[in-house]
Amino acid sequence: MPAVTIEDITKLPRIPAPATGGDAERAVRTVTLAPHGFEGEGFPVRRAFAGADPAHLDPFVHMDQMGEVEYAPGEPKGTPWHPHRGFETVTYMIDGTFQHQDSTGGGGLITNGDTQWMTAGAGILHIERPPEALIASGGLFHGIQLWVNLPAADKWVPPRYQDIGAGNVALLASDDGGALVRVIAGEVGGHRGPGVTHTPISLAHATLSPGARLRLPWPREFNALVYVLAGTGTAGTEERPLESGQLAVFGEGDALTLTASRSQESRSPALDVLVLGGRPIREPVAWYGPFVMNTHAEIAQALSDFKAGRMGVIPADHIGN
Ligand code: MN
Repeated sequence: MPAVTIEDITKLPRIPAPATGGDAERAVRTVTLAPHGFEGEGFPVRRAFAGADPAHLDPFVHMDQMGEVEYAPGEPKGTPWHPHRGFETVTYMIDGTFQHQDSTGGGGLITNGDTQWMTAGAGILHIERPPEALIASGGLFHGIQLWVNLPAADKWVPPRYQDIGAGNVALLASDDGGALVRVIAGEVGGHRGPGVTHTPISLAHATLSPGARLRLPWPREFNALVYVLAGTGTAGTEERPLESGQLAVFGEGDALTLTASRSQESRSPALDVLVLGGRPIREPVAWYGPFVMNTHAEIAQALSDFKAGRMGVIPADHIGN
């Protein structure tokens, strides 16, 4: 799992440990297991949020772990051109490469540790796929796509892209020096990551070496979710067991704790997790396919706008189909 790795994490800035006794520890509310599914032209995903209470996920709507899969030559798959409206997609590549193109002229390649942030807003058409060379060669493919909702007031903003290179991610160490934390968006322990969102959120990818403990101050007004990409450990000071493909939803408080098991499987020698949270929007959610709106009437409008070509036009020099 390359993403961004560091030789000696003890030289990184440390995340200040939450004040014992002062900060309220968040307890684990639920742990759910992500079912397997297929997306786009048939690439394997795990539906990270399936089974969790949507009210606890707010402002997030949906998250897919894409792969991890080792493709044979000719096998890599992506999506055809498709629309989005009413939210933001965040694509974080851990292994492999994804190519993007959209109806506003945006696009590019993201690879090991890069993030692409797309605000669909009022509407956009785009395609996400492995580049031709990777389709020909095959190879390892592993990433995340997260959907962040937009409040009614921001659903009609113009579409926007942010490319966040792996080198811009803020790198921190846990207070015990045993965990690497990559801050992709928002702020963790006073250190800001590069992603800018309409809806305030924090998103980090943490790698805990065996036996390490990660204690994170976490804003009280945010929800708190932890998804396990690989490895085993526990969530909360109550040490609720966690393993690959599980989502822990934390309750209220100012801080959260994760611990990596002392022995890990040899194929995933560390506990790798995504830690994410945001300020809940607390509005009605009408979600249909690629559209996330507030009402069914707005979904019907999105469908007719898409059919009428009002979400953009596929560029003449387009990739894919
Ligand atoms: Mn898409």
